[in-house]
Amino acid sequence: MAHVEVTAPPYRTIPIIPALEPGAMAGTKSFLANEKIQNDLGFPGTLVENWKDVALDKMRELLGKQRSLQVFLDSCVHCGACTDKCHYFLGTHDPLNMPVARQDLMRSVYRRYFTVAGRVFPKLVGARDLTRETLDQWYSYYYQCSECRRCSVFCPYGIDTAEITMAGREILDAVGYGQKYTNEIIGKVHRVGNNLGLPEAALADTLQGLEEDVLADTGVPVRYPLNEKGAEVLLITPSADFFAEPHVESLIGYGKVFHAAGVSWTLASFASEAANFGMFIGSYEQLRKIALRIRETALELGVKRIIVGECGHAWRVAYSFWNTLVGIGAGATDPYAVEFQKMLDPKVKQPTHICEYTWDLIRRGALRFDKEANDHRIITFHDSCNVARGSGMGDTPYGQFEIPRNIIRSVANHFYDMAPETINERTFCCGGGGGILTDDLLDVRVKGALPRMEALQQVVDEHGVNFMATICAICKAQFTKVLPYYKFKMSMVGGVHQLVSTAIRLK
Ligand code: SF4
Ligand code: SF4
Repeated sequence: MAHVEVTAPPYRTIPIIPALEPGAMAGTKSFLANEKIQNDLGFPGTLVENWKDVALDKMRELLGKQRSLQVFLDSCVHCGACTDKCHYFLGTHDPLNMPVARQDLMRSVYRRYFTVAGRVFPKLVGARDLTRETLDQWYSYYYQCSECRRCSVFCPYGIDTAEITMAGREILDAVGYGQKYTNEIIGKVHRVGNNLGLPEAALADTLQGLEEDVLADTGVPVRYPLNEKGAEVLLITPSADFFAEPHVESLIGYGKVFHAAGVSWTLASFASEAANFGMFIGSYEQLRKIALRIRETALELGVKRIIVGECGHAWRVAYSFWNTLVGIGAGATDPYAVEFQKMLDPKVKQPTHICEYTWDLIRRGALRFDKEANDHRIITFHDSCNVARGSGMGDTPYGQFEIPRNIIRSVANHFYDMAPETINERTFCCGGGGGILTDDLLDVRVKGALPRMEALQQVVDEHGVNFMATICAICKAQFTKVLPYYKFKMSMVGGVHQLVSTAIRLK
């Protein structure tokens, strides 16, 4: 790929629909997966000769399996309500990054081959042939969508562009046109157990180092156990928590919470990854295979409860799909899942988000904090897309918005929300989610971060905010990288449990 100079776009003084720049991002493509990466996941190594037939067959299969896909492709009335709701369009000005245009890349092909009007009068209904040019556009623009679902919040018909993106990626994989970043990571999870390819010895070493550091800092022997049979809690957290900054600060915080609660817990090397990139590529088979590691591990270790760490899309997968995928959580009725549920503690919610767990302890008065320890921080909170629009927390609606904020207010004195149109269910994506967090897409990532950076700038100017908390490993990694492009310090992003870690009193 030619060298591209990456610069942040200027802030918009009035958030208006930008002037269109057709083709601005047409040349932007993430690296293709090589033959080995593809074959490891059961996909063709390179573009198959009869790719058009294979692509249309796959589309037919998906339309048959997923009723929602056909509904989404049939029901758009081109009202335009979604056009200016995508951060990638706002940052790049490329009209094909408008959600409706992204959908139309597939809708036009659907109409051509799967509707009568499209077969007979293709031009009249916006139908077009599936050509190599179309396929290349799919690759470009379906990997410039973070599957954040913001656009669907504003669509009067609830059309979910993310599902169309996932279908597009699934078809691309089926013809041998896969993305290196996502598919290589999925292969690593199958081989080693986590996205970063960290072997058990490295994990054990890190956790021992954390125990020594926390003991030196606090004088308290907080444990960070690995593969401990008979532990009550299995913590599934993103592998970045083991090594990356600021992620590891939250891992330190989880350990302190379990210590303060007097609960035995463990991490697991075989399931040392909460992320599930199977969702990003729309593959049910990969989604399930990755999730099955959690069940196998829970059975092997005999735990009673499964808690998920700070990872946005992982929580969506756990909250929305684990029950039917692998039998963790209410709802699955296959005999294996029923037996598995009996092993887990039926008195607690399965799975539990670490924020739900910590907030429950706080509410019951089981944790004590020195809030002043966070006084050097003036904090805001970035809602991560998959938590905000793809999951819930607690027993009441909107718990996924309230619980993380309640925790922050319990452990710190200075908190300010960003503008209401940029938080909660209308939150703007960090710009790096859904399979975009790769350096070959840095230009898209920096431009896509624009609306979030504008909202952040506002609270920095008005309240002196110097810390943006979030509960997603991808958001943390993305912001660490792009904040400097907007003249912020990369250290101003961190986790909610990083704040908990700073203020918690240990016995
Ligand atoms: S990135 Fe988000 S807002 Fe943009 S098209 Fe995709 S799902 Fe919609
Ligand atoms: S808001 Fe919905 S119906 Fe309107 S153009 Fe966008 S996808 Fe189509």
